[in-house]
Amino acid sequence: MALLAIMGRPNVGKSTLFNRITKSRKAMVDDSPGVTRDRNYADAEHDGVKFSVVDTGGFSKNDPDAFVDLIHFQVNQAIEEADAIAMVFDGKDGPSPFDRDLLSVLRPIDKPIFYLVNKIDSADLEYLMADFAELGVGELHPVSGEHGYGIPTFLDMIVKVLPKASPKLEEDMISIGVVGRPNAGKSSLINKILGQERLLVSDTPGTTRDAVDTVCQVNGKPYLLLDTAGIRRKGKVKHKLEKFSIVRALKGLERCDVALVMLDATEGITDQDVHIAGYAEERKCGCIFLANKWDLVKDKDWALKKIKDDVRMNAKFLNYAPFMTISALTGQRVHRIFELVDKVYAQYTTRISTSKLNRMLENAITRHEPPYHKGRRLKFYYATQVSTKPPTIVCFVNHPDAVHFSYKRFLINHIREETGLDQTPIRLLFRQRD
Ligand code: GDP
Ligand code: GDP
Repeated sequence: MALLAIMGRPNVGKSTLFNRITKSRKAMVDDSPGVTRDRNYADAEHDGVKFSVVDTGGFSKNDPDAFVDLIHFQVNQAIEEADAIAMVFDGKDGPSPFDRDLLSVLRPIDKPIFYLVNKIDSADLEYLMADFAELGVGELHPVSGEHGYGIPTFLDMIVKVLPKASPKLEEDMISIGVVGRPNAGKSSLINKILGQERLLVSDTPGTTRDAVDTVCQVNGKPYLLLDTAGIRRKGKVKHKLEKFSIVRALKGLERCDVALVMLDATEGITDQDVHIAGYAEERKCGCIFLANKWDLVKDKDWALKKIKDDVRMNAKFLNYAPFMTISALTGQRVHRIFELVDKVYAQYTTRISTSKLNRMLENAITRHEPPYHKGRRLKFYYATQVSTKPPTIVCFVNHPDAVHFSYKRFLINHIREETGLDQTPIRLLFRQRD
């Protein structure tokens, strides 16, 4: 789906516009100093055209030095992916030096850019636009994110320039959930990945905020990190009294393609970790075990073998989940996580052709004949893959209920061997055929 990036200095009204365009409450509008927001991403539709919108307003409002970061952040992370850009000015404030700085960075960018003068709440205020002529940017459009003035006209223009269907984001973007018990290092990992430690969402007591996902770009490829705000928030408010909440721990599993199951390597795999891993298995998403805090581990050779053995032993059911050690604190091997995510995702989305599948089924049956059922041999007719994420195979049998668990496991393992699908869950379903 095509992507529109909203840019502009703090307080010009980016997130208000974002909310108006996406008709969502996903961005957090907050005037209190120091409250920052994640780069925010949601879908919008106008005139039957669907597109995605990203609000690039993710940096500390009360830190003047953060402006350099802002430019870096907006340009590198949003512009590269965007198909069109909305550059927003504050009609009430008039042009500022910050606006000029941003414009200078935008200049070499060869993408459609719309210059919006925001806070023009009605036609009466259009006179405020005159101040912006000196910026010399060509056509300026009056809008009001808060009241909707000028928005339909703006959206008409936007959907005209957006590419109709860009395969770039939606289908290709892998969504990643980070799960684990409190203190495993989830928020540290998120911060390390985003490389913007100062983006921490500060907790204002009594306010609630919706889940915010963050797009991050690694080697030019976008990934969607799920519920980053929630993870960071939890990371900050925990204290001794906090009880382990499985519901909370599992939130990241709801929508993800790949779950990063974080363990604290200094503590090994605990019952709670196994519990979480069990849910990940049930959810049938791709999974990766991350043994975190590796920087604290003393005898690394011995510890690696020990924790790996323990994970394999205690979470046998996730034997397809790759395992790696990291340090969210030092960043050790953090970039390698994405290589693994790509591998797991490739397997998770694999399609096996029906002919190949049936050849495999035949081989499997020859190698290990199906057991008898009420004196008659179980008959496997044919198999076909019905979906991906994970690869889901339906196999037609004369007595589906009679397929023993161990034979099902044998078939799955056989498929794994022949296809090389060793890092993804595989679903095998049996359907009746007489
Ligand atoms: P951001 O930092 O660029 O994301 O700005 P926000 O969306 O958080 O808005 C900053 C302030 O400007 C908030 O107090 C908004 O209520 C106000 N604001 C945003 N859009 C408009 C608008 O169209 N008209 C008026 N009058 N105020 C607005
Ligand atoms: P969360 O509750 O899972 O989000 O965990 P946090 O990210 O808040 O981390 C819990 C504590 O462990 C914090 O004090 C972190 O600084 C610390 N921590 C997280 N990752 C590492 C790591 O890789 N190495 C070390 N030494 N400490 C870490």
